Amino acid sequence: MNLLDEINQISILQVAEDLGLDVSRHRMICPFHEEDTPSLVLYPHTNSFYCFGCAKTGNSITLYSEIKQLTIKDTIREMGEEYVVGFQKYSSKSKKKLPTVNVLNVPEIRKVQAKEKPVEEIHSQIYETFRDICLQQSSNELSQATLIYLKTRGFTDKTLKDFRVFAIKDYADASWGLKQRFSTLDLQESGLFNERNNLIFYAHPLIIPYYRNGRIVYLQGRVVGPPPEKHGRYQFLHNQSLTLFNADILEKTKINETVYVTEGAFDCMRLVQDGKVAVSLGTANVFKREWAKLFQRVNVVFYLDNDKAGHRAADELEKIFTHFGISCSRKNLPAAYKDVNDYYTDKLGSNEQLGLF
Ligand SMILES: [Zn+2]
Repeated sequence: MNLLDEINQISILQVAEDLGLDVSRHRMICPFHEEDTPSLVLYPHTNSFYCFGCAKTGNSITLYSEIKQLTIKDTIREMGEEYVVGFQKYSSKSKKKLPTVNVLNVPEIRKVQAKEKPVEEIHSQIYETFRDICLQQSSNELSQATLIYLKTRGFTDKTLKDFRVFAIKDYADASWGLKQRFSTLDLQESGLFNERNNLIFYAHPLIIPYYRNGRIVYLQGRVVGPPPEKHGRYQFLHNQSLTLFNADILEKTKINETVYVTEGAFDCMRLVQDGKVAVSLGTANVFKREWAKLFQRVNVVFYLDNDKAGHRAADELEKIFTHFGISCSRKNLPAAYKDVNDYYTDKLGSNEQLGLF
């Protein structure tokens, strides 16, 4: 094993801690952009990191060199001295070799993306095959319950069809079907399967697909009704970076048109059903600066959840958009409502009145 391999074995959690960074549950405040809530995630199984706020990515070596403002060469020497037992054997033997280390040859250092990285073709294929398998499954109690739930939330058949929301009717069949067609590695890398090779949407049968240029680039699962114990309301793909929901609509906007930015996909769907132009962030904690470019010609209205995270995100987003010279404002929900969809469902009357049943 060479020195680089040794260094790449060091836990990124350990490195971050030793650098004095405040890590909690693999997350920390990103040192590469200004923020109040932690959006940089450390991945111990690959010893890498990714910031959901600014898209900065790298491994232990990059993190160390950036924080300490050292060249890669000096970083490797310092980390060797600090972490690698018997480092002397390397330094005496390979002193001349070290300066020739090329950054691009360092395993796992991926170039920082100036633009949003396109989703890999194989991942879109996996997501779309998953959708096709689910759509081919015959309807059952679960899918009926899902449909009724969506209608109680005020969605029309047209909206559900337009946004191509679907349900997993038979989990085992969906999982089996995907394993027949794709390799374990591809399924895990797509984020749809976990390290134990299980389809991640076990408790989240309602699937919201995120499309870009007509292709599925992301999937979000949701529970039907209130979340069961130990599960969140939503399940996001593992290790895949979030993208905007309904972003394709931004290509069709007119200059100065009002575009609503919501938190949840359902809020966005609800506003579109009401004739508005809307996109959603998926969660209040994530906004990538490169997304701001998509909003350059329009009037943005932030219409986020009525909670601490939503208010904080709106403050931060207003700052970012103003910084980029994009016209923006915010709309606050009346105190009694949690999110846009709640508000609309209540405001427009019962679903019987809407003629949904
Ligand atoms: Zn960042």
